[in-house]
Amino acid sequence: MHAYHRRRFAALPVAGRGVVVEVRVRRLRCLTVDCPQQTFREQVPELTTRWARRTRQLTALVGDLAVAAAGSSGQVCSAVTGCLRA
Ligand SMILES: [Zn+2]
Repeated sequence: MHAYHRRRFAALPVAGRGVVVEVRVRRLRCLTVDCPQQTFREQVPELTTRWARRTRQLTALVGDLAVAAAGSSGQVCSAVTGCLRA
């Protein structure tokens, strides 16, 4: 163990309010001789991925909203152009 770090993530909103999760993670020292990394931050795979600023749950929601938005604009586009009328 080398030190502690705080990581902050945007999380799913609660009651219409944005939520920030703050987690204390350890900075660990690598025990391999001559390792160029030397120290590394502890990961929290249940919560997020390595460089993410959002929780996995919020990332999934944003992805779902993007797909839904793309779907509805696609319907508008095809209605306007008539390109997908069956
Ligand atoms: Zn190492």
